[in-house]
Amino acid sequence: SLSERLGGVFDRLRGRGALTEADVRAAMREVRVALLEADVALPVAKSFIDKVTERAVGAEVTRSVTPGQQVVKIVHDELAAMLGGDAEGLELDVTPPAVVMMVGLQGSGKTTTTAKIAKRLKEKDRKKVLMASLDVNRPAAQEQLRVLGEQTEVATLPVIAGQQPVDIARRALQAAKLQGFDVLMLDTAGRLHVDAALMAEMQSVAAVQVPQEILLVVDSLTGQDAVNVAESFSKQVDLTGVVLTRMDGDARGGAALSMRHVTGKPIKFVGVGEKLDALDAFDPQRVAGRILGMGDVVSLVEKAAATIEQEDAERMAAKLAKGQFDMNDLRAQLQQMQKMGGMAGLIGMLPGMGKLAAQAEKAGADDKLLGRMEAVILSMTPKERGKPELLNAKRKIRIANGAGTTVQEVNKLLKMHQEMSTAMKKIRKMGGMKGLAGLMG
Ligand code: GDP
Ligand code: MG
Repeated sequence: SLSERLGGVFDRLRGRGALTEADVRAAMREVRVALLEADVALPVAKSFIDKVTERAVGAEVTRSVTPGQQVVKIVHDELAAMLGGDAEGLELDVTPPAVVMMVGLQGSGKTTTTAKIAKRLKEKDRKKVLMASLDVNRPAAQEQLRVLGEQTEVATLPVIAGQQPVDIARRALQAAKLQGFDVLMLDTAGRLHVDAALMAEMQSVAAVQVPQEILLVVDSLTGQDAVNVAESFSKQVDLTGVVLTRMDGDARGGAALSMRHVTGKPIKFVGVGEKLDALDAFDPQRVAGRILGMGDVVSLVEKAAATIEQEDAERMAAKLAKGQFDMNDLRAQLQQMQKMGGMAGLIGMLPGMGKLAAQAEKAGADDKLLGRMEAVILSMTPKERGKPELLNAKRKIRIANGAGTTVQEVNKLLKMHQEMSTAMKKIRKMGGMKGLAGLMG
């Protein structure tokens, strides 16, 4: 696996402080092989590797993970970021009907995906959806959508023989308006290859009413070929997103990275089977693991991250056990929270903190609050930070002024510190470090 290969490259590195350029280049050769094996297009792999190299060179290697693990984590995180951070859904917030147009080659899964999305919109978002097939090339295509409509209990536009796609689109739009549908899904015809006639047809349909979403449906199993398809389509129409089908096959996910790179558009869904509920929101983390070709990459990354946190927590616990939890420690905790993505990341870090996080959340806490609390601590003298009980009313006013906040805010922070200290004392009674380690899992 990639992790083993990288382990080999980095074995001789153990114990050194930072990753050098030569080390990173050696590792990137292995990453490149993994990407190409996962069907990532060559130019995409190249550009990705340049990016990661830049980030990895000079990165500090945390004491508790190996350089190989550190690089895998950087590669994984960068992959997930490049794949699109958070999952993005459909943007249908317009005066109804919102038009969703599905485009792609024949056999890519357009018709099936049209029905899957319609079903999802109906069930999850309580939308009233109308589906219309504009595929007049294949006689069975309109019938296929009608049957899918029956199965999903989603309305379909009645078929009128002999109508051209643009006329069907107009009729569908009018029906959607008259009958109060929220969403109109247009399933267009595909060809076996991209050609001028197909593109012209797509454009004239899109001209009937500018679609809210134009989704390109691509078969993830077609690998490199999918890149050319995406390139042609994104040149001809304003795509808003991509749906990757057949991710249930032996696709290794490389197409996802290529699609994102070529179209610059988010992958909105993945098809994971023939059944009509086999549609998932796109999960960049999971696909990143898949592209690296390592079932264990996510757990490896989690382990690396957890070890780093565990080390911090243990250091903290040692201080606590000696009854030395002061404002400097609280500040370190606040910084940790910010790094870990705010309040949510905090839960489970230290005993007693979960409750505090919940409290803070109720009080409208956000990352800004963490920053303000840090400012309060920074406005204290070193002596005050080490001995918060020194803080009388006068000192509190000075600190509040210095931090640009109120005395209430200063009191809130002191209360937080107090509650943490209390929680720590309880833990000491429960068996000290051992009990704490147990609680931290
Ligand atoms: P279209 O020509 O683009 O409209 O493609 P269809 O929607 O007719 O799909 C072609 C075939 O692919 C059908 O047999 C579908 O059941 C199948 N299909 C579509 N999406 C998926 C998917 O995500 N996974 C699997 N395994 N099959 C799919
Ligand atoms: Mg079809």
